[in-house]
Amino acid sequence: MPPERKPEKAAPRRIETLAVLPVFLKLAGRRVVLAGGDEGAAWKAELLAASGAHVDVYATEPCEAMEALAADPPAGAIDIHRRPWSIHVFDNAAIAIGGAESDDEALAFRCAAQQAGVPVNCIDRPAFCDFQFGSIVNRSPLVIGISTDGAAPVFGQAIRARIETLIPATFKAWAQAARDWRPFVQQLDLPFRARRAFWERFTARALAAPTQAASEAEREAMLAATVAEETGRKVGSVALVGAGPGDPELMTLKGVRLLQSADVILYDDLVHPAVIDMGRREARLIHVGKRGYKPSCTQEDINGLIVELALEGLSVVRLKGGDPMVFGRAGEEIEACRRAGVPVAVVPGITAASGAAASLSVSLTHRDAARRLQFITAHARDGKLPRDLDWRALADPAATTAVYMGVRTLPELIDKLTGHGLPGTTPVMIVERATRDDERIIAGRADDIAARLAAAQPKGPCVVLIGEALAEARTG
Ligand code: SAH
Repeated sequence: MPPERKPEKAAPRRIETLAVLPVFLKLAGRRVVLAGGDEGAAWKAELLAASGAHVDVYATEPCEAMEALAADPPAGAIDIHRRPWSIHVFDNAAIAIGGAESDDEALAFRCAAQQAGVPVNCIDRPAFCDFQFGSIVNRSPLVIGISTDGAAPVFGQAIRARIETLIPATFKAWAQAARDWRPFVQQLDLPFRARRAFWERFTARALAAPTQAASEAEREAMLAATVAEETGRKVGSVALVGAGPGDPELMTLKGVRLLQSADVILYDDLVHPAVIDMGRREARLIHVGKRGYKPSCTQEDINGLIVELALEGLSVVRLKGGDPMVFGRAGEEIEACRRAGVPVAVVPGITAASGAAASLSVSLTHRDAARRLQFITAHARDGKLPRDLDWRALADPAATTAVYMGVRTLPELIDKLTGHGLPGTTPVMIVERATRDDERIIAGRADDIAARLAAAQPKGPCVVLIGEALAEARTG
Protein backbone atom coordinates (compact mmCIF):
# COMPACT_ATOMS: atom_id res chain seq x y z
CA MET A 1 0.00 0.00 0.00
CA PRO A 2 1.33 3.38 -0.88
CA PRO A 3 1.83 5.61 2.14
CA GLU A 4 -1.22 7.67 2.87
CA ARG A 5 -1.01 11.33 2.03
CA LYS A 6 -3.16 13.90 3.67
CA PRO A 7 -4.08 17.02 1.78
CA GLU A 8 -2.03 19.81 3.15
CA LYS A 9 -2.46 23.48 2.79
CA ALA A 10 0.35 24.94 0.72
CA ALA A 11 2.01 27.98 2.25
CA PRO A 12 1.26 31.07 0.20
CA ARG A 13 4.08 32.04 -2.07
CA ARG A 14 6.04 34.96 -0.67
CA ILE A 15 6.83 37.96 -2.77
CA GLU A 16 10.46 38.29 -3.69
CA THR A 17 12.40 41.08 -2.08
CA LEU A 18 11.66 44.53 -3.42
CA ALA A 19 14.41 47.09 -3.92
CA VAL A 20 11.85 49.86 -3.49
CA LEU A 21 8.13 49.94 -2.91
CA PRO A 22 6.26 51.80 -5.63
CA VAL A 23 3.61 54.01 -4.13
CA PHE A 24 1.61 56.73 -5.83
CA LEU A 25 1.43 59.96 -3.91
CA LYS A 26 -1.69 62.10 -4.07
CA LEU A 27 -0.28 65.60 -4.09
CA ALA A 28 -3.22 67.67 -5.26
CA GLY A 29 -3.53 70.64 -2.93
CA ARG A 30 -0.60 69.46 -0.75
CA ARG A 31 2.38 71.62 0.04
CA VAL A 32 5.77 70.53 -1.25
CA VAL A 33 9.12 72.10 -0.39
CA LEU A 34 11.65 72.42 -3.16
CA ALA A 35 15.09 73.86 -2.34
CA GLY A 36 17.11 75.01 -5.33
CA GLY A 37 16.59 77.03 -8.45
CA ASP A 38 18.57 75.33 -11.22
CA GLU A 39 17.28 73.42 -14.24
CA GLY A 40 17.10 70.15 -12.33
CA ALA A 41 14.99 71.79 -9.65
CA ALA A 42 12.80 73.38 -12.30
CA TRP A 43 12.05 69.97 -13.80
CA LYS A 44 11.07 68.68 -10.37
CA ALA A 45 8.90 71.76 -9.85
CA GLU A 46 7.10 71.03 -13.11
CA LEU A 47 6.54 67.40 -12.16
CA LEU A 48 5.22 68.29 -8.73
CA ALA A 49 2.96 71.08 -9.96
CA ALA A 50 1.64 68.77 -12.69
CA SER A 51 0.58 66.46 -9.85
CA GLY A 52 -1.40 69.34 -8.40
CA ALA A 53 0.99 70.12 -5.54
CA HIS A 54 1.50 73.63 -4.23
CA VAL A 55 5.25 73.98 -4.66
CA ASP A 56 7.18 76.37 -2.40
CA VAL A 57 10.53 76.94 -4.05
CA TYR A 58 13.41 78.30 -1.95
CA ALA A 59 16.09 79.70 -4.24
CA THR A 60 18.11 82.90 -4.09
CA GLU A 61 18.67 82.88 -7.84
CA PRO A 62 15.99 80.87 -9.64
CA CYS A 63 16.85 80.04 -13.26
CA GLU A 64 14.76 81.31 -16.15
CA ALA A 65 12.96 78.00 -16.58
CA MET A 66 11.84 78.14 -12.96
CA GLU A 67 10.58 81.71 -13.33
CA ALA A 68 8.68 80.79 -16.48
CA LEU A 69 7.11 77.79 -14.75
CA ALA A 70 6.05 79.84 -11.75
CA ALA A 71 4.39 82.30 -14.11
CA ASP A 72 2.49 79.51 -15.85
CA PRO A 73 2.38 76.32 -13.77
CA PRO A 74 0.85 73.14 -15.26
CA ALA A 75 -1.68 72.56 -12.47
CA GLY A 76 -0.76 73.39 -8.86
CA ALA A 77 0.84 76.74 -7.99
CA ILE A 78 4.58 77.39 -7.82
CA ASP A 79 5.69 80.10 -5.36
CA ILE A 80 9.29 81.23 -5.51
CA HIS A 81 10.75 82.47 -2.23
CA ARG A 82 14.01 84.28 -3.00
CA ARG A 83 15.95 83.03 -0.02
CA PRO A 84 17.65 79.81 1.07
CA TRP A 85 15.61 77.15 2.85
CA SER A 86 15.57 77.14 6.64
CA ILE A 87 14.41 74.68 9.27
CA HIS A 88 11.04 76.45 9.38
CA VAL A 89 10.03 75.75 5.82
CA PHE A 90 9.01 72.13 6.35
CA ASP A 91 5.80 72.71 8.31
CA ASN A 92 2.84 70.92 6.74
CA ALA A 93 4.90 69.75 3.80
CA ALA A 94 4.01 66.39 2.24
CA ILE A 95 7.50 65.88 0.84
CA ALA A 96 10.70 67.88 0.47
CA ILE A 97 13.04 67.91 -2.52
CA GLY A 98 16.44 69.50 -2.24
CA GLY A 99 19.07 70.38 -4.77
CA ALA A 100 22.40 70.27 -2.95
CA GLU A 101 25.90 71.14 -4.12
CA SER A 102 27.66 68.85 -1.71
CA ASP A 103 26.97 65.83 0.46
CA ASP A 104 27.19 68.06 3.51
CA GLU A 105 24.48 70.31 2.16
CA ALA A 106 22.35 67.29 1.25
CA LEU A 107 22.83 65.85 4.72
CA ALA A 108 21.78 69.12 6.35
CA PHE A 109 18.66 69.33 4.19
CA ARG A 110 17.77 65.73 4.84
CA CYS A 111 18.24 66.02 8.61
CA ALA A 112 16.09 69.16 8.76
CA ALA A 113 13.31 67.58 6.72
CA GLN A 114 13.40 64.37 8.71
CA GLN A 115 13.32 66.34 11.93
CA ALA A 116 10.04 67.82 10.71
CA GLY A 117 8.80 64.34 9.77
CA VAL A 118 8.85 65.07 6.04
CA PRO A 119 10.14 62.43 3.57
CA VAL A 120 12.99 63.82 1.54
CA ASN A 121 14.64 63.45 -1.85
CA CYS A 122 17.99 65.08 -2.60
CA ILE A 123 18.27 65.55 -6.34
CA ASP A 124 20.89 63.19 -7.85
CA ARG A 125 22.12 62.09 -4.41
CA PRO A 126 20.53 58.69 -3.83
CA ALA A 127 22.31 58.18 -0.53
CA PHE A 128 20.30 61.06 0.89
CA CYS A 129 16.88 60.05 -0.36
CA ASP A 130 13.88 58.55 1.42
CA PHE A 131 12.21 58.09 -1.94
CA GLN A 132 13.08 58.30 -5.61
CA PHE A 133 11.32 59.54 -8.68
CA GLY A 134 10.75 56.87 -11.30
CA SER A 135 10.46 57.24 -15.03
CA ILE A 136 6.87 57.97 -15.93
CA VAL A 137 4.47 56.79 -18.58
CA ASN A 138 1.64 59.25 -18.30
CA ARG A 139 -1.86 58.33 -19.43
CA SER A 140 -3.49 60.03 -16.48
CA PRO A 141 -5.49 58.89 -14.66
CA LEU A 142 -3.44 55.83 -15.68
CA VAL A 143 0.12 56.41 -14.47
CA ILE A 144 3.01 53.96 -14.73
CA GLY A 145 6.17 54.52 -12.72
CA ILE A 146 9.45 52.70 -13.45
CA SER A 147 12.38 52.37 -11.12
CA THR A 148 15.68 50.51 -11.24
CA ASP A 149 16.48 51.75 -7.76
CA GLY A 150 19.22 53.86 -9.28
CA ALA A 151 20.96 50.78 -10.68
CA ALA A 152 20.49 51.55 -14.36
CA PRO A 153 18.74 54.80 -15.26
CA VAL A 154 19.35 54.38 -19.01
CA PHE A 155 17.93 50.87 -18.91
CA GLY A 156 14.94 52.29 -17.05
CA GLN A 157 14.42 54.89 -19.75
CA ALA A 158 14.59 52.26 -22.49
CA ILE A 159 11.97 50.23 -20.68
CA ARG A 160 9.86 53.32 -20.38
CA ALA A 161 10.15 53.93 -24.13
CA ARG A 162 9.06 50.38 -24.79
CA ILE A 163 6.05 50.67 -22.52
CA GLU A 164 5.14 53.96 -24.20
CA THR A 165 4.82 52.13 -27.49
CA LEU A 166 2.81 49.32 -25.94
CA ILE A 167 0.23 51.55 -24.33
CA PRO A 168 -1.73 53.59 -26.85
CA ALA A 169 -2.31 57.23 -26.04
CA THR A 170 -6.04 56.48 -26.09
CA PHE A 171 -5.70 54.47 -22.87
CA LYS A 172 -5.84 57.84 -21.23
CA ALA A 173 -9.41 58.27 -22.42
CA TRP A 174 -10.27 54.74 -21.35
CA ALA A 175 -8.87 55.26 -17.88
CA GLN A 176 -10.84 58.48 -17.68
CA ALA A 177 -13.96 56.69 -18.92
CA ALA A 178 -13.55 54.14 -16.15
CA ARG A 179 -13.45 56.97 -13.65
CA ASP A 180 -16.50 58.67 -15.20
CA TRP A 181 -18.47 55.45 -15.47
CA ARG A 182 -17.83 54.28 -11.93
CA PRO A 183 -20.75 56.26 -10.45
CA PHE A 184 -23.11 54.74 -13.02
CA VAL A 185 -22.03 51.27 -11.98
CA GLN A 186 -22.33 52.13 -8.30
CA GLN A 187 -25.82 53.53 -8.79
CA LEU A 188 -27.05 50.12 -9.88
CA ASP A 189 -26.18 48.72 -6.49
CA LEU A 190 -25.00 45.42 -7.93
CA PRO A 191 -23.25 42.69 -5.95
CA PHE A 192 -19.47 42.45 -6.22
CA ARG A 193 -19.60 39.64 -8.78
CA ALA A 194 -21.70 41.68 -11.18
CA ARG A 195 -19.59 44.80 -10.76
CA ARG A 196 -16.53 42.73 -11.50
CA ALA A 197 -18.25 41.31 -14.60
CA PHE A 198 -18.97 44.85 -15.76
CA TRP A 199 -15.33 45.90 -15.40
CA GLU A 200 -14.20 42.77 -17.22
CA ARG A 201 -16.49 43.71 -20.08
CA PHE A 202 -15.14 47.23 -20.01
CA THR A 203 -11.53 46.03 -20.05
CA ALA A 204 -12.10 43.54 -22.83
CA ARG A 205 -13.65 46.30 -24.92
CA ALA A 206 -10.85 48.80 -24.16
CA LEU A 207 -8.15 46.30 -25.05
CA ALA A 208 -9.92 45.10 -28.17
CA ALA A 209 -10.31 48.52 -29.80
CA PRO A 210 -8.47 51.09 -27.72
CA THR A 211 -8.51 53.75 -30.40
CA GLN A 212 -12.28 53.71 -30.72
CA ALA A 213 -13.64 55.96 -28.01
CA ALA A 214 -16.35 54.54 -25.80
CA SER A 215 -19.73 56.12 -26.32
CA GLU A 216 -22.46 56.62 -23.79
CA ALA A 217 -24.59 54.21 -25.74
CA GLU A 218 -21.92 51.57 -25.27
CA ARG A 219 -21.79 52.27 -21.58
CA GLU A 220 -25.55 51.85 -21.35
CA ALA A 221 -25.41 48.62 -23.28
CA MET A 222 -22.66 47.23 -21.06
CA LEU A 223 -24.56 48.23 -17.94
CA ALA A 224 -27.75 46.72 -19.27
CA ALA A 225 -25.99 43.50 -20.20
CA THR A 226 -24.51 43.28 -16.72
CA VAL A 227 -27.86 43.86 -15.07
CA ALA A 228 -29.51 41.33 -17.35
CA GLU A 229 -26.88 38.73 -16.60
CA GLU A 230 -27.18 39.34 -12.89
CA THR A 231 -30.94 39.17 -12.73
CA GLY A 232 -31.09 36.34 -15.23
CA ARG A 233 -33.54 38.25 -17.34
CA LYS A 234 -33.45 40.30 -20.45
CA VAL A 235 -33.53 44.07 -20.13
CA GLY A 236 -35.73 45.71 -22.71
CA SER A 237 -35.09 49.03 -24.33
CA VAL A 238 -36.63 52.42 -24.80
CA ALA A 239 -36.80 54.38 -28.03
CA LEU A 240 -37.98 57.97 -28.07
CA VAL A 241 -39.55 58.24 -31.48
CA GLY A 242 -40.57 61.46 -33.16
CA ALA A 243 -44.08 61.13 -34.59
CA GLY A 244 -43.87 64.32 -36.63
CA PRO A 245 -46.45 67.10 -36.61
CA GLY A 246 -49.45 65.18 -37.90
CA ASP A 247 -49.39 63.76 -41.40
CA PRO A 248 -48.51 60.09 -40.80
CA GLU A 249 -46.44 60.01 -43.98
CA LEU A 250 -43.96 62.31 -42.31
CA MET A 251 -42.84 59.50 -39.99
CA THR A 252 -39.29 58.25 -40.49
CA LEU A 253 -38.74 54.72 -41.75
CA LYS A 254 -36.76 54.00 -38.63
CA GLY A 255 -39.60 55.23 -36.44
CA VAL A 256 -42.09 53.00 -38.24
CA ARG A 257 -39.78 50.00 -37.95
CA LEU A 258 -39.52 50.51 -34.19
CA LEU A 259 -43.28 50.92 -33.89
CA GLN A 260 -43.71 47.62 -35.68
CA SER A 261 -41.49 45.78 -33.26
CA ALA A 262 -42.67 47.51 -30.08
CA ASP A 263 -44.19 45.67 -27.14
CA VAL A 264 -45.55 48.86 -25.62
CA ILE A 265 -46.23 52.26 -27.15
CA LEU A 266 -46.66 55.27 -24.92
CA TYR A 267 -48.00 58.22 -26.83
CA ASP A 268 -48.80 61.88 -26.34
CA ASP A 269 -51.95 63.79 -27.16
CA LEU A 270 -50.22 65.42 -30.08
CA VAL A 271 -49.58 62.17 -31.92
CA HIS A 272 -51.88 61.55 -34.87
CA PRO A 273 -53.98 58.36 -34.44
CA ALA A 274 -52.84 57.13 -37.85
CA VAL A 275 -49.25 57.07 -36.56
CA ILE A 276 -50.27 54.99 -33.59
CA ASP A 277 -52.02 52.63 -35.98
CA MET A 278 -48.67 51.88 -37.59
CA GLY A 279 -47.65 50.09 -34.39
CA ARG A 280 -47.57 46.34 -34.00
CA ARG A 281 -51.10 45.05 -33.55
CA GLU A 282 -50.23 43.19 -30.35
CA ALA A 283 -48.48 46.20 -28.83
CA ARG A 284 -49.93 47.59 -25.64
CA LEU A 285 -50.97 51.21 -26.08
CA ILE A 286 -50.65 53.64 -23.21
CA HIS A 287 -51.85 57.18 -23.50
CA VAL A 288 -49.72 59.52 -21.43
CA GLY A 289 -51.24 62.77 -22.63
CA LYS A 290 -49.87 65.99 -21.37
CA ARG A 291 -52.06 68.88 -22.32
CA GLY A 292 -51.32 72.49 -21.67
CA TYR A 293 -53.70 73.88 -19.02
CA LYS A 294 -55.57 70.54 -18.67
CA PRO A 295 -55.18 67.55 -16.31
CA SER A 296 -52.11 65.53 -17.40
CA CYS A 297 -49.79 62.66 -16.53
CA THR A 298 -46.79 64.00 -14.66
CA GLN A 299 -43.40 63.78 -16.32
CA GLU A 300 -42.15 61.80 -13.30
CA ASP A 301 -44.87 59.20 -13.82
CA ILE A 302 -43.92 58.86 -17.47
CA ASN A 303 -40.21 58.55 -16.64
CA GLY A 304 -41.00 55.88 -14.07
CA LEU A 305 -43.31 53.98 -16.38
CA ILE A 306 -40.98 53.70 -19.37
CA VAL A 307 -38.15 52.49 -17.13
CA GLU A 308 -40.38 49.99 -15.36
CA LEU A 309 -41.65 48.54 -18.62
CA ALA A 310 -38.15 48.27 -20.08
CA LEU A 311 -36.90 46.54 -16.95
CA GLU A 312 -39.65 43.98 -17.48
CA GLY A 313 -37.81 43.15 -20.68
CA LEU A 314 -40.13 44.97 -23.06
CA SER A 315 -39.33 47.03 -26.14
CA VAL A 316 -40.81 50.37 -25.27
CA VAL A 317 -41.54 53.05 -27.85
CA ARG A 318 -42.14 56.47 -26.44
CA LEU A 319 -43.91 58.24 -29.27
CA LYS A 320 -43.71 62.00 -29.07
CA GLY A 321 -45.25 64.67 -31.26
CA GLY A 322 -42.89 66.42 -33.67
CA ASP A 323 -39.25 65.89 -32.78
CA PRO A 324 -38.61 64.40 -29.34
CA MET A 325 -35.65 66.72 -28.82
CA VAL A 326 -37.64 69.93 -29.33
CA PHE A 327 -39.63 71.06 -26.30
CA GLY A 328 -40.36 67.43 -25.54
CA ARG A 329 -38.64 66.90 -22.17
CA ALA A 330 -36.72 64.11 -23.83
CA GLY A 331 -33.71 64.88 -21.65
CA GLU A 332 -35.53 63.78 -18.52
CA GLU A 333 -36.69 60.51 -20.05
CA ILE A 334 -33.22 59.75 -21.38
CA GLU A 335 -31.72 60.49 -17.99
CA ALA A 336 -34.21 58.23 -16.20
CA CYS A 337 -33.35 55.35 -18.54
CA ARG A 338 -29.63 55.87 -18.14
CA ARG A 339 -29.87 55.90 -14.42
CA ALA A 340 -31.71 52.61 -14.48
CA GLY A 341 -29.25 51.05 -16.91
CA VAL A 342 -31.89 50.79 -19.62
CA PRO A 343 -30.58 51.25 -23.17
CA VAL A 344 -32.23 54.24 -24.78
CA ALA A 345 -32.22 55.47 -28.36
CA VAL A 346 -33.76 58.48 -30.07
CA VAL A 347 -35.32 58.64 -33.51
CA PRO A 348 -35.83 62.23 -34.64
CA GLY A 349 -39.06 63.48 -36.11
CA ILE A 350 -40.18 66.47 -38.09
CA THR A 351 -40.79 69.33 -35.72
CA ALA A 352 -43.96 71.46 -35.90
CA ALA A 353 -42.12 74.48 -37.31
CA SER A 354 -40.78 72.43 -40.23
CA GLY A 355 -44.21 70.98 -40.87
CA ALA A 356 -45.76 74.45 -40.80
CA ALA A 357 -43.10 75.83 -43.15
CA ALA A 358 -43.85 73.04 -45.60
CA SER A 359 -47.57 73.82 -45.45
CA LEU A 360 -46.83 77.49 -46.08
CA SER A 361 -44.36 76.64 -48.85
CA VAL A 362 -41.98 79.07 -47.26
CA SER A 363 -38.35 78.72 -46.34
CA LEU A 364 -37.73 79.63 -42.72
CA THR A 365 -34.33 80.95 -43.68
CA HIS A 366 -33.50 83.38 -46.43
CA ARG A 367 -30.10 84.44 -47.67
CA ASP A 368 -30.89 88.11 -47.03
CA ALA A 369 -34.08 88.34 -45.01
CA ALA A 370 -33.49 85.59 -42.42
CA ARG A 371 -30.09 84.28 -41.56
CA ARG A 372 -31.13 83.13 -38.12
CA LEU A 373 -33.86 80.72 -37.07
CA GLN A 374 -34.85 80.63 -33.41
CA PHE A 375 -37.23 78.28 -31.61
CA ILE A 376 -38.80 79.48 -28.42
CA THR A 377 -41.52 78.41 -26.08
CA ALA A 378 -43.83 81.17 -24.93
CA HIS A 379 -45.07 79.08 -22.04
CA ALA A 380 -43.09 79.18 -18.79
CA ARG A 381 -43.55 76.69 -15.95
CA ASP A 382 -46.28 78.92 -14.52
CA GLY A 383 -48.11 79.00 -17.87
CA LYS A 384 -47.22 82.64 -18.42
CA LEU A 385 -44.94 84.29 -20.95
CA PRO A 386 -41.36 83.55 -19.84
CA ARG A 387 -39.77 86.70 -18.50
CA ASP A 388 -36.21 85.86 -19.46
CA LEU A 389 -36.56 85.67 -23.24
CA ASP A 390 -34.05 87.61 -25.31
CA TRP A 391 -36.44 90.33 -26.54
CA ARG A 392 -33.85 92.06 -28.72
CA ALA A 393 -33.06 88.87 -30.60
CA LEU A 394 -36.76 88.07 -30.97
CA ALA A 395 -37.58 91.56 -32.21
CA ASP A 396 -35.00 91.26 -34.98
CA PRO A 397 -37.06 91.33 -38.20
CA ALA A 398 -34.19 89.65 -40.04
CA ALA A 399 -34.56 86.48 -37.99
CA THR A 400 -37.32 83.89 -38.16
CA THR A 401 -38.86 82.93 -34.84
CA ALA A 402 -40.90 79.77 -34.33
CA VAL A 403 -43.01 79.97 -31.21
CA TYR A 404 -44.16 76.74 -29.57
CA MET A 405 -46.93 76.64 -26.98
CA GLY A 406 -47.47 80.27 -27.75
CA VAL A 407 -51.14 80.87 -28.51
CA ARG A 408 -52.30 81.90 -25.08
CA THR A 409 -49.50 84.41 -24.56
CA LEU A 410 -49.22 85.58 -28.18
CA PRO A 411 -50.79 89.06 -27.76
CA GLU A 412 -48.44 89.75 -24.86
CA LEU A 413 -45.44 88.40 -26.79
CA ILE A 414 -46.19 90.53 -29.82
CA ASP A 415 -46.58 93.62 -27.60
CA LYS A 416 -43.17 92.93 -26.09
CA LEU A 417 -41.58 92.46 -29.49
CA THR A 418 -43.04 95.56 -31.08
CA GLY A 419 -41.99 97.40 -27.92
CA HIS A 420 -38.44 96.21 -28.66
CA GLY A 421 -38.56 97.42 -32.24
CA LEU A 422 -40.23 94.66 -34.28
CA PRO A 423 -42.00 96.55 -37.10
CA GLY A 424 -45.80 96.26 -37.00
CA THR A 425 -45.67 95.14 -40.64
CA THR A 426 -43.67 91.97 -39.85
CA PRO A 427 -45.53 88.89 -41.15
CA VAL A 428 -46.85 86.53 -38.46
CA MET A 429 -48.35 83.15 -39.36
CA ILE A 430 -50.21 80.93 -36.97
CA VAL A 431 -50.45 77.35 -38.23
CA GLU A 432 -52.98 75.22 -36.37
CA ARG A 433 -52.69 71.42 -36.65
CA ALA A 434 -49.86 71.76 -39.15
CA THR A 435 -49.78 69.03 -41.85
CA ARG A 436 -53.08 67.49 -40.74
CA ASP A 437 -56.15 67.36 -42.92
CA ASP A 438 -57.83 69.94 -40.71
CA GLU A 439 -54.87 72.30 -40.74
CA ARG A 440 -55.71 75.99 -40.57
CA ILE A 441 -53.59 79.05 -41.24
CA ILE A 442 -54.18 82.36 -39.53
CA ALA A 443 -52.12 84.89 -41.45
CA GLY A 444 -51.43 88.39 -40.31
CA ARG A 445 -48.86 90.96 -39.29
CA ALA A 446 -47.48 91.91 -35.92
CA ASP A 447 -49.99 94.75 -35.63
CA ASP A 448 -53.13 92.73 -36.38
CA ILE A 449 -52.39 89.11 -35.46
CA ALA A 450 -53.86 89.41 -31.94
CA ALA A 451 -57.23 90.48 -33.36
CA ARG A 452 -57.14 87.75 -36.02
CA LEU A 453 -56.26 85.16 -33.39
CA ALA A 454 -59.16 86.28 -31.17
CA ALA A 455 -61.52 85.98 -34.11
CA ALA A 456 -60.25 82.54 -35.19
CA GLN A 457 -60.17 80.92 -31.73
CA PRO A 458 -58.03 77.89 -32.65
CA LYS A 459 -58.56 74.74 -30.59
CA GLY A 460 -55.73 72.56 -31.92
CA PRO A 461 -51.97 72.90 -31.38
CA CYS A 462 -50.55 75.98 -33.05
CA VAL A 463 -47.08 77.01 -34.00
CA VAL A 464 -46.46 80.69 -34.63
CA LEU A 465 -43.91 81.84 -37.18
CA ILE A 466 -42.67 85.43 -37.10
CA GLY A 467 -40.29 87.24 -39.44
CA GLU A 468 -39.75 88.81 -42.84
CA ALA A 469 -39.06 85.42 -44.41
CA LEU A 470 -42.76 84.67 -43.95
CA ALA A 471 -43.63 87.37 -46.47
CA GLU A 472 -43.21 84.67 -49.10
CA ALA A 473 -45.70 82.35 -47.40
CA ARG A 474 -48.52 80.83 -49.39
CA THR A 475 -51.60 81.09 -47.26
CA GLY A 476 -54.37 80.17 -49.66
N1 SAH B 1 -41.79 68.07 -29.90
C1 SAH B 1 -42.80 68.89 -30.56
C2 SAH B 1 -43.19 70.09 -29.75
C3 SAH B 1 -43.85 69.76 -28.48
S1 SAH B 1 -44.39 71.18 -27.61
C4 SAH B 1 -42.29 69.28 -31.93
O1 SAH B 1 -41.10 69.10 -32.22
O2 SAH B 1 -43.09 69.75 -32.73
C5 SAH B 1 -46.05 71.30 -28.10
C6 SAH B 1 -46.24 72.45 -29.03
O3 SAH B 1 -45.76 72.13 -30.32
C7 SAH B 1 -47.65 72.84 -29.26
O4 SAH B 1 -48.14 73.65 -28.23
C8 SAH B 1 -47.55 73.57 -30.56
O5 SAH B 1 -47.03 74.86 -30.36
C9 SAH B 1 -46.51 72.78 -31.29
N2 SAH B 1 -47.09 71.76 -32.17
C10 SAH B 1 -46.97 70.45 -32.09
N3 SAH B 1 -47.61 69.82 -33.10
C11 SAH B 1 -48.13 70.79 -33.86
C12 SAH B 1 -48.90 70.83 -35.06
N4 SAH B 1 -49.23 69.71 -35.69
N5 SAH B 1 -49.24 72.03 -35.54
C13 SAH B 1 -48.90 73.15 -34.94
N6 SAH B 1 -48.18 73.20 -33.80
C14 SAH B 1 -47.81 72.04 -33.27
